[in-house]
Amino acid sequence: MSRWIKMEEGYVCPLCMDRKNVIFTRNDILGTPICKKCSYKLWSDVYGHESRPESMLLDRLEELTPLSYEEYCLIELESVAGDLMDTLREYQTEISRLKGVINVRQGK
Ligand SMILES: [Zn+2]
Repeated sequence: MSRWIKMEEGYVCPLCMDRKNVIFTRNDILGTPICKKCSYKLWSDVYGHESRPESMLLDRLEELTPLSYEEYCLIELESVAGDLMDTLREYQTEISRLKGVINVRQGK
């Protein structure tokens, strides 16, 4: 969810059809980028609900795919969890690098 990508001017978010957005993120449900605004809205629609909430964004998603609400939730959760794992690995690499720098300075 946090992997923002800049799309060429004129790219249209398939969920809101807004042409003014330039910041997008890949979306595993559609397999195509969606805008930042829809990305946040999608997350709030798929996480933490026992059943499908009323949502124009979900209505639109259902027009575009044959998947069920639970399938959207699973795909989106797996995608966000994957991004978090990548971020965690990057942080751990940076922590190791910094510890190495500090240890060298301290002559350890
Ligand atoms: Zn959008």
